[in-house]
Amino acid sequence: MRKGRVISIGNELLIGDTINTNAAWLGRFLTEKGFTNDQIITLPDGYEVIFNAVHDAIQTADLTIITGGLGPTHDDITKKVLADLFDSKLVENENVLNHIKKIFEKRGFQLSKSNIEQALVPDNCEVLFNKQGTAPGMLFSRNGKYVAALPGVPYEMKWITENQLSEKLQVYFPDSELWATRYYKTAGVPESTLSDDVIGDLSDFLNNGVEIAYLPSPGGVTIRAGVSALSEPEADKKLRLLNEYIYEKAEDIIFGEGREYSLSEAVGELLAQQSKTIAVAESCTGGLLSNSLTDIPGSSRYVKGGVVAYENDVKVNLLKVSEPEMEQFGAVSKQVALQMARGVAEKLNADIGVSTTGIAGPDGGTEDKPVGTVWLGFWINGENFAIHALFTNDRIINKERTVMVALETIRRRLKGLKSYPYNLKPDYS
Ligand code: ATP
Ligand code: MG
Repeated sequence: MRKGRVISIGNELLIGDTINTNAAWLGRFLTEKGFTNDQIITLPDGYEVIFNAVHDAIQTADLTIITGGLGPTHDDITKKVLADLFDSKLVENENVLNHIKKIFEKRGFQLSKSNIEQALVPDNCEVLFNKQGTAPGMLFSRNGKYVAALPGVPYEMKWITENQLSEKLQVYFPDSELWATRYYKTAGVPESTLSDDVIGDLSDFLNNGVEIAYLPSPGGVTIRAGVSALSEPEADKKLRLLNEYIYEKAEDIIFGEGREYSLSEAVGELLAQQSKTIAVAESCTGGLLSNSLTDIPGSSRYVKGGVVAYENDVKVNLLKVSEPEMEQFGAVSKQVALQMARGVAEKLNADIGVSTTGIAGPDGGTEDKPVGTVWLGFWINGENFAIHALFTNDRIINKERTVMVALETIRRRLKGLKSYPYNLKPDYS
């Protein structure tokens, strides 16, 4: 396969002020276009270091994509380096200049000398038009190796890549194999259990050129399968047996496919199909569960609403949690979780009520109820049960895990499955 390389430029990236999201995005872009990335490197705004890196890149990589340092400020030197490296003269490009003038007219700003300088481009590169901003992208070539230089601003970089660079790649890298990926999203099973016990040995597939990875996150584990192919249908063919195998082993815990597909989307689809509504009473998740549910367009069809019942009074007054029981068992308890779920479903007239109450941390734990203790309550068509879980010491991860268990429990219920996420047990007492 062809070799790709990504070079990110900017002192702010090395200091850690800016997260290098461009590198991740371009890494995936190049991979999907059939390049194998041999290096992703990050460099400061320094003439020599950039010069040497690009010089080195064009010895090996078929396509190098550089981002950053194309702007009008004094520290932006990428264009100068490339002009020197590729023996070019900077010449004014009329199209770019007109575009810059138009942008400034629209904003009502005066053009400065440094803005006009942005219309200067090396005379031996192809200009990659930047609809989103003033700094154009540039595409150089030498000895069959290509170097694209793009602005650092992520939305400008993405626009040029998808709209300008992609077309050039079809010309310069025709019939290129693509790297096709499939993402299987699972929830409620730890990574090691999923890989060792549920899926098991995949060596037959691996020996046939399929690449498989487990990508864990607090919301679940994604199984990614990749294969190189000349087209998506060919990739489908190559991945057919693996696909069958994965579903045979893990059907119940796969909630959907696709990199961006979320558990709340899966739950939402089931709620909509079954014409059921949901209401949420959140303590330890502070609204994160409502937020996840309402991230999905069209969720107003099935989300009735939610209450962030943080203070005990709110649990009692709004959700009709029994005050004596709360005093006896504590706010983080099965009894309170059960009553919150039922209370919110009745209050908001929903088919399903879900509640969360827990000790998110980092403080507030006791011997009986350590940090990470969570009770989730469910009221599903008149059935009231609670689930006890013990997560981590990390507040944010605890919130995310709680949301995952809540959603995955509901998903499995709506699917008629008998299992629970993380093998947790429902408590009906
Ligand atoms: P401009 O014309 O806007 O000056 P530029 O090519 O000079 O574009 P930079 O000055 O390097 O780009 O960066 C512009 C903005 O884009 C900065 O706010 C920076 O934080 C952001 N940025 C730069 N590089 C990256 C990156 N690799 N990942 C994410 N953001 C980035
Ligand atoms: Mg800049």
